[in-house]
This record gives sequence, structure tokens and C-alpha cells, in this order.
Amino acid sequence: MAKKKSKEVKVNFKTSWEYAPAPESKDHIRLKEKYDLFINGRFTAPLAGKYFDTINPATEKTLAQVADASEADVNLAVSAARDAYEKVWSKMPAKERGKYIYRIARAIQERAREFAVIESMDGGKPIRESRDVDVPLAAAHFFYYAGWADKMEYAAPGKKVRPLGVAGQIIPWNFPMLMAAWKIAPALAAGNTVVLKPAETTPLTALKLAEVIQESGLPDGVVNIITGAGTTGAALVNHPDINKIAFTGSTEVGKVIQRAIAGTHKKYTLELGGKAANIIFEDAAIDQAVEGIVNGIFFNQGHVCCAGSRLFVQESVADIVVRKLKDRMETLIVGDPLDKNTDIGAINSKEQLNKIRQYIKIGINEGGECYESSCSIPSKGFFHRPTLFTNVAQSSRIVQEEIFGPVLAIQTFRTVEEVIEKANNIPYGLSGGVWTDKGSKIFKVTSQIRAGVIWANTYNKFDPTSPFGGYKESGVGREGGLHGVMPYVEVLHA
Ligand code: NDP
Repeated sequence: MAKKKSKEVKVNFKTSWEYAPAPESKDHIRLKEKYDLFINGRFTAPLAGKYFDTINPATEKTLAQVADASEADVNLAVSAARDAYEKVWSKMPAKERGKYIYRIARAIQERAREFAVIESMDGGKPIRESRDVDVPLAAAHFFYYAGWADKMEYAAPGKKVRPLGVAGQIIPWNFPMLMAAWKIAPALAAGNTVVLKPAETTPLTALKLAEVIQESGLPDGVVNIITGAGTTGAALVNHPDINKIAFTGSTEVGKVIQRAIAGTHKKYTLELGGKAANIIFEDAAIDQAVEGIVNGIFFNQGHVCCAGSRLFVQESVADIVVRKLKDRMETLIVGDPLDKNTDIGAINSKEQLNKIRQYIKIGINEGGECYESSCSIPSKGFFHRPTLFTNVAQSSRIVQEEIFGPVLAIQTFRTVEEVIEKANNIPYGLSGGVWTDKGSKIFKVTSQIRAGVIWANTYNKFDPTSPFGGYKESGVGREGGLHGVMPYVEVLHA
């Protein structure tokens, strides 16, 4: 009897996959109408009396008014931090410093739901991510660095370490709460005081953190949080009484900062842009790899410096990977960040949405083949469907430049040598991913890719003990782990 030809079963994702809304409650959060600057342990009105609105990018509604710090306010904040450093914090026994940091960590855990909801409202990220990633990791960083406070003598065995003094810290809008923790926790553990400036579009969780810090009884002036735009950041960078600048943001502004502090005594760490290669070999577990691709590029709407935004698929499996990826993209839900079903929330700002749209046009004009999932998106707010490009070249702008949105550029390769060459052919060097069944291939590829962090058979895994940072135009220095506390001390050779 003739054998029946087996027919491929195709799943139709556009049928009955409707989820009932599952919105997170906003009843438990407390937001003020107006936020002042947190200087010297108190909320203080800005000297020029100026405020700006912070909006919810999913609704375009104003959430609160936030103080716009002028140079004079920056001076007050730095002077409060200097006083606190000289008179209190640098004199306090290290184990006492540690207790305060533990207290902040515990308070973040206690108010985790409030932090998560505010993070999603102010920044647009899905509640599942702010609840399960941003806020727990922020608390974990405070816990981890609290442990270092009284162990700094073991950080550089046989040598002495001493704090630098006042750290100026500037953070971006993609992980506002987590970046505040990455910056503040190691600085305090090492004995420094801090002036932190959150991004203009996402100041609210840093200001909530200021409330927690106030309630923790941390001595006045040890942490100061000032809000404002780029000019406030520039005033902090240029302040003569700052000992160290820690910056996370775009490569462009990183270069401005580097030029501004060249020739000064200021130390610095810069965590800048990226364009990571996520590499799928033919021997990889394809379904897991597809999940890794989705996580790599669509996590946090693609507003991730280490996003796996360049996908390299070995030619023999390219068709199946792209087909499965498109199927998976059809299942992703774009919409209300506070809905627990949402996979992709709101783009952080109108400006960023326009930038993403501009890059899509560039990609199409360059000859790329663009595919967008067909899901519905809300009519109000800033949203973008998950998107991928095939038929792109190494030289395409959408392959070379950081888009910072849910847009993936896919290329193929045949050999290990070819993909290493292609992966490294980029000005950035922050992160990467490798998917293969062979341990030897993992070691070969990861040791030859010039990137600070490379994940194998997983993606976007973060832990406070693990250093993070880049090569080339992705920055200078590391954050996380012991590596992350060392840039906050001077090592004295005995
Ligand atoms: P920026 O690099 O401008 O912002 C990062 C932080 O620096 C913000 O707090 C910003 O303030 C502040 N800042 C801006 N100008 C200066 C300055 N001259 N001196 C000191 N501080 C300054 O990023 P954008 O928000 O403008 O985003 C632009 C692009 O950068 C994005 O489209 C994305 O591609 C990329 N980006 C990359 C990030 C990464 O981690 N790799 C993070 C954020 C953005 P304010 O926000 O108030 O202007």
C-alpha cells in the first residue's frame, strides 16, 4: 500500500487566542501631584520654581509635575553630598553603612508592588517585567552591595581602599529603578555619597526611592536625587566638586561626557549603547532559541542596551527559524503595560517612537524586507508592533546603529569564522548570545566575540554578582559584582 505523504500541521494563531483583560490595580500606589528635588534629606522646591510634566506613555496623560533642577540646584545637591561625605558617611563604621543599605533593600521589597506599578506607568514597560525583573533586581543589588560595605578590605587583598568622595550619577529611561540601584548601591557601600539624576521621561521611581531613603533614616545628604533634562545632567558632569561620574545612556552623550571631563581629576564609568549579535547555530534547540530571540529583542520593547538586535542564523536552519519566529511574534500581545497579559508595553516617548519609525523607513529604503506582526495596538499612546527585517547587509544602518525598539535585523551565515567576523564588525561591544548544542562551539565563539557579556543558550540574564559593561563604543568600566564596586574606590598600594 502506498504511504500517505504526511502533511505539515500549521497552527493558526489568529483564531480564538483572546485573553480577558487582567489589569494590575493602581489603588495601592501613592503619587503626589508635584515632586520637588531631594536634597540634603528633604524635598526642596527648585530655586527657579520650574517644573515639567512626566506622562504615562501608554495613555499620554500627565502623571505628575517634576522639578527642573537648575545649575544652582545642582550646586546645592553637590554641596550637601560633600558635607555628608566629609562629616558623616566617610567617618561612619562600614558595618553601620551596610545596615542602612540593607534597610533600603528591605523597604524596596516591602513596597515592591507600588514600585512596579509606578515603573510601568511612567516608563511603559509591561507590569510582568517591572514586577518580576526590575524591582526584585533593584532590591537584590542593594542587598548584594550592603554585604560588601564592611568587606571592602577583602576587595583588594594586601592593599587599602578608600572611597572617592562625591559621585555624580546619570541614568536613562529604559530601566529607571534598576539603574538607580546599580548606581547608588555600590557607591554607598564603598563609602561615597551621591547625586543622582534620573531621565526626564522616567523620574518617578527614583523619587519614590527618595521617599524610601528618607524613611530609612539614611543621614541627610548621603543620597540626593535631582530631576531635570540633559542640561541638569551636564551641570552635574561639569561640577568641579564631583569625584566620579557614572553614566548610563547613549554613546553620543557618553562621548560628550568623556570630552567634558577629560583633563580633570574625575574618574568615570560609562555604560553606553549596543547592537548585540544573537547567534543561532544549526545544532541549537530551535524552539528554545526562538524564545531566546523573542526575549532578546522584545523584552522591554527593545529599549535595552544589551538587546539581541542583530540575529545571525546559520543558513541551513534560517527558513525554519524565521518561520517559527514569525509564528511566535503573532502570539505577542502589545498593549496596556498594566495588563498582566501584555508582552510588549508602550514605547517610552513620542520621540523614541518617531526614531523607531524613522529607522523602519531607513531599513525599507535600504532594500530590507520588513515584517510586522498583525496584532492590534491601542489607538492612544505610543506603541509599536514587533518587527523584523530580512535581506539586510552588514553595512545597512539598521544593522549598524542602535534603534532601541522592537526591531530585529536578521542575517545568515555559513561558518563559525564568518559569524565571528560579522558579529565583531560593529562599533559596539556590549553583549551577545550563542545558541548551540556543542560546548566547544560556545567556548570558541564566546572567547572570540568582543563583547562584555555573552549568554549561551539563554539571553538577558542579570544578577547583582555578575559584572556588566562593554568594549569599544559600548563604554568604559563594569557595573555589578566586585567589578562594579571597585570604580568607587581608590586602591592605595601599601
Ligand atoms: P541620553 O543618553 O541622552 O540620556 C541618558 C541620560 O543622560 C538622561 O538622564 C539624560 O537626561 C542625560 N543627558 C542628556 N544629555 C546630557 C548631557 N549633555 N550631559 C549629561 N547628561 C545628559 O539618551 P536619550 O534619552 O536622549 O535617548 C537617545 C537615544 O539613546 C535613544 O534613542 C537610544 O538609542 C539611546 N539610549 C541608549 C541607552 C543605553 O543604555 N544604551 C539608554 C538610553 C538611550 P534627559 O533624559 O533628562 O535628557
